[in-house]
Amino acid sequence: MLKRYLLAPGPTPVPPEVLLSMAMPIIHHRSPDFLPVLDSAKKGLQWLFQTKNDVLILASTGTGGMVGAVNNFFNAGDKVLVVNGGKFGERWTKICQAYGLKVEDVVVEWGYSIKPAAVAAALKKDPEIKGVFVQATETSTGVYHDIEGLGKVIKNYPDTLFIVDAISALVAQDIRTDEWGIDIMVGGSQKGLMLPPGLAFVSVSEKAWKKGETSKMPKFYFNFKKERENLAKNQTNFTSAVTLIIGLNEAIKMLQKEGLENVFKRHAMLAHAAREAVKALGLGLYSKESPSNSVTAIEMPAGIDGQLVYKTLREKYGITGAGGQDKAKGKIYRLAHLGYADTFDVITGIAALEMVLKHMGHDVKLGTGVAKAQELLMA
Ligand SMILES: *Cc1c(COP(=O)(O)O)cnc(C)c1O
Repeated sequence: MLKRYLLAPGPTPVPPEVLLSMAMPIIHHRSPDFLPVLDSAKKGLQWLFQTKNDVLILASTGTGGMVGAVNNFFNAGDKVLVVNGGKFGERWTKICQAYGLKVEDVVVEWGYSIKPAAVAAALKKDPEIKGVFVQATETSTGVYHDIEGLGKVIKNYPDTLFIVDAISALVAQDIRTDEWGIDIMVGGSQKGLMLPPGLAFVSVSEKAWKKGETSKMPKFYFNFKKERENLAKNQTNFTSAVTLIIGLNEAIKMLQKEGLENVFKRHAMLAHAAREAVKALGLGLYSKESPSNSVTAIEMPAGIDGQLVYKTLREKYGITGAGGQDKAKGKIYRLAHLGYADTFDVITGIAALEMVLKHMGHDVKLGTGVAKAQELLMA
């Protein structure tokens, strides 16, 4: 028997409480049974997003929420800035270009975080820029971008929207939507929220709704204005993902019981322990600045193929983490500590990494990283 452990930055493990809540018979999405369910989900999401804005609930993956953030608020030909520091930054660029927006990439070297001053300079140079797109956590490099700092810059531009992909950061990082002036923030179900894949969440500010009125882009499935009207009636425009939304309420209930501050503290502690364990093993962190609390990107030693580490961990030890993407492929291994994650997820992930590296001929003193993580997680 090979017992399976899921330690990837999405999908992430789903707690038994949430799985059980989703085992109930299906209820009808337009019936009185469902309306309080959606009402509770929308309030729970506002709590989690730290916002008074509407948080739309879409039946799609996170990328669907990203697409909607483009086609509901902009027009072809609009100039926008994209912070491009990894695979998901590239995705913003591709989506914007697919809809005919004129993208200026603010390129950030992989493993580094954006300097808000760079965005300030770009906005100053071109006051025509209508939106700034960024990831909160760039999952491909393990870097958390300075969302608060960017918010301070963008606040000075009343006609520029601030759009944040927080799909992998939500729950792991304290992101204050309203306080920091985030106009559109996108989340997804299968990362910090401890749910199966299939839901996207998008918060929209009044400033964004206003700008959206000028958008002439074609909209049908992702029509946010219609979603907003439906949300006010505790419905969604099309059939609600009833089961996932019931699960969402259970997941939010668990997070509320823990308390938002404690949820962030737990993620910070797990991430810190993972990073220190990696260093104790003599390995480097791929995130040279601002490592995220969601996922730790670990540099592989010379001569060790990160893809083979990923594959061996999966096949020999049952542990599914993630390798590197694109130019980081083969160079890193990514260990997530996101959502339904605790002490022994980190210890398991580190212990197995030690074993695999040794197995592949790297000089490892077994237990070095584990001991460091244990020490820190006992505190
Ligand atoms: C996982 C992820 C996404 C998108 O995911 P879907 O596969 O569409 O759910 C987008 N952005 C970031 C930063 C992610 O980590």
